[in-house]
Amino acid sequence: MDKKKIKTFHISTYGCQMNLADSSTLVSTMTSRGFQRVDDESKADLIIFNTCSVRDKAEQRVIGRLGEIKKFVKRKPHVKVAVVGCMAQRLGDELTKIAPHVNYVLGTDRIFELPDVLEGNENTAPIMTAFGHEDMDLIEPIKETPFSGFVTISRGCDNYCTYCIVPYVRGKERAHAVDQIVRNVNRLVNEGVIEITLLGQNVNSYNYDGLDFPDLLKLVLSKTNVPRLRFMTSHPKDLSEKLIDVIANEPRMMPHIHLPLQSGSNRILKRMGRVYKVEHYLSIVESLRNKLDYLSITTDLIVGFPTEKEEDFEQTLEVVRRVKYDSAFMFRYSVRPGTTASRYDDDIPEEDKIRRLNKLIALQQKIATERNQREIGQIRFCLVEGKSRRNEDTQRARSEGNKTVLFKANNIKDGQVVPLRITSADAFTLHGVIEEKI
Ligand code: SAM
Ligand code: SF4
Repeated sequence: MDKKKIKTFHISTYGCQMNLADSSTLVSTMTSRGFQRVDDESKADLIIFNTCSVRDKAEQRVIGRLGEIKKFVKRKPHVKVAVVGCMAQRLGDELTKIAPHVNYVLGTDRIFELPDVLEGNENTAPIMTAFGHEDMDLIEPIKETPFSGFVTISRGCDNYCTYCIVPYVRGKERAHAVDQIVRNVNRLVNEGVIEITLLGQNVNSYNYDGLDFPDLLKLVLSKTNVPRLRFMTSHPKDLSEKLIDVIANEPRMMPHIHLPLQSGSNRILKRMGRVYKVEHYLSIVESLRNKLDYLSITTDLIVGFPTEKEEDFEQTLEVVRRVKYDSAFMFRYSVRPGTTASRYDDDIPEEDKIRRLNKLIALQQKIATERNQREIGQIRFCLVEGKSRRNEDTQRARSEGNKTVLFKANNIKDGQVVPLRITSADAFTLHGVIEEKI
């Protein structure tokens, strides 16, 4: 294929930060090979979709977008379409049957070969989904804002929770080399980033040549000047006291933990393949709260998993009441083809899933409001990230506990860390004023 035919590309990214990191790396790879990124999809010779498969809804959005561009692509035959990432991995050439105007399908380990495919290089094909071809060193850190960013520490997952597509579409867990992680953190810090989140599907099982996750955190803190460090996501089965001690004892570790519970019923957790019991989960929360006076705990919850009875759901509500999460991502169970749970009968009617989800959301909002209002009067050291999305004369900052704090002040620049005294709060946002006495 003649490279000259494709000069410009547009990329849309769906799903998690991992996908954003992959898109960022793909953009660098493409531009270093002479392709030019454009912001206007209608000006692109190549339209790329980097996709998510975690729930059916995420896939349907991409199918919808592919439908929308069908006529446009037909009118402009030189325009090509590439679907890359998780959905490409899951569906492979089936995608070209669903959407025949898709020209390239590259799975999660083949994404960065897109320029090779466009240039028609040896050993490439328009559809590639085999694992084991990834160049881990390529993966770049990403900036969410000029002052906050993400560094990937591992890819894939070995846990095979029965509902989850991730191990199938992202492959087995691979740890990034310690040196690469330190290099990427330093790179962001040198570019002015203040706050970095280390990313992995299960950061707690990180192991590189015997170096575990708490040791990695200590190493990153000692070998870089990153002012504020976070991580995501923690699987409760692997969260150790050693990790809790690092969060408690290292001032540059931000006091926030994302600890997905998924369900408050031991019977459902077992069917989900989550391995831990509610009692173990609660003992971790207790230890965290004992060792840290100030800590945000957030979680992921699924309602309507096969066979979930009202009493199982009530147990989830009960754990939510006990833990008092600062915030939660809450989902209706969605069957993912090929997973273990896809062989179970999806027996909870959609209206019950929706009713349970709404009840859970209402409870969580009430708890989040209470948690946030408990912060009133406290001083939080917040990273100023920009303007409020709704109000031009209000500034937006992120607290140590990862909450959005809005405030008004003169002469405070983005990227500064400022002490804010919290004055009011609702379920999603805190409001504060600059504390002058510090
Ligand atoms: N690795 C992380 C973990 O273990 O929590 C996150 C993985 S997944 C990308 C993010 C969340 O999506 C999960 O924690 C789970 O709550 C939700 N999820 C995954 N599969 C799902 C499914 N089939 N239906 C509904 N929600 C799902
Ligand atoms: Fe999916 Fe479970 Fe792995 Fe998280 S730990 S990515 S939910 S299989």
